[in-house]
Amino acid sequence: MIAQEKKPIEEILGYLEGKKKVVVMGCGGCATFYHTGDTKAVNAMAETLTKEGKDVFKMPLPFSIQACDIEKSGVWLEKNRKELENRDAVLVLSCGDGVQVVTEYMDEKMEITKAVIPGNDALGLVGGGPKKFKETCQSCGMCELGKTAGICPLTSCGKGLMNGPCGGVREGDKCEIDEEKDCAWVKIYKRMEKLGEVEKFEQMLDPHEWSKMKRPRLFEIEEPIGMDVIGAMKGMMTVKFGPKPKLDE
Ligand code: SF4
Ligand code: SF4
Repeated sequence: MIAQEKKPIEEILGYLEGKKKVVVMGCGGCATFYHTGDTKAVNAMAETLTKEGKDVFKMPLPFSIQACDIEKSGVWLEKNRKELENRDAVLVLSCGDGVQVVTEYMDEKMEITKAVIPGNDALGLVGGGPKKFKETCQSCGMCELGKTAGICPLTSCGKGLMNGPCGGVREGDKCEIDEEKDCAWVKIYKRMEKLGEVEKFEQMLDPHEWSKMKRPRLFEIEEPIGMDVIGAMKGMMTVKFGPKPKLDE
């Protein structure tokens, strides 16, 4: 899940300076989960921009239709081609991935070149919930978790160290550069102890291989998920559960 937060409205208004007619597009994926691009967020943004004198066309995407999944979100873009052609800018309430995928599709497939503006700031891959989340993975492309007792040294250690702690671990096993945070390498050591594999701590690990971080990374999947699967998932989401059975039933 890509965590994200709304950009300050002053920043968005700056990008929209001189642009009167605006499309506000949502995202039915991560941005819906974080309430930064769901229908409510699209409506709220449209209201704010209207008060600022903009002429707004709203384009929310249904739940599960992600802005970055262009085969599906493209259907909404095509459906609203006329509006897109007649507007000065498109404000996309998604992560930067969605914003760029929409930009590229409009430029190359629809031949409509407009200012496409980000409404959110993406904060990375996070896990946890339901309210608190933590960044857990930088998508480095070469996972080290098998060597480090399942704790990512690149993401959890403030210095991204690969071979044990730096010399600055604070009292209470806190990190040298963030006293609120536990030292990742102390956590790795303790977990190795519990797993009975503390000898791994003494093994010298090779420097992390960063070659898969070349940008942009490109890859293909053999069998893309189809609309029929999305439809089935939506059906599952609307299953209604009956009342909970009583304990003596
Ligand atoms: S090593 Fe860390 S950043 Fe790389 S894939 Fe594994 S969890 Fe993600
Ligand atoms: S104190 Fe621990 S987590 Fe913090 S930078 Fe040093 S080794 Fe990394």
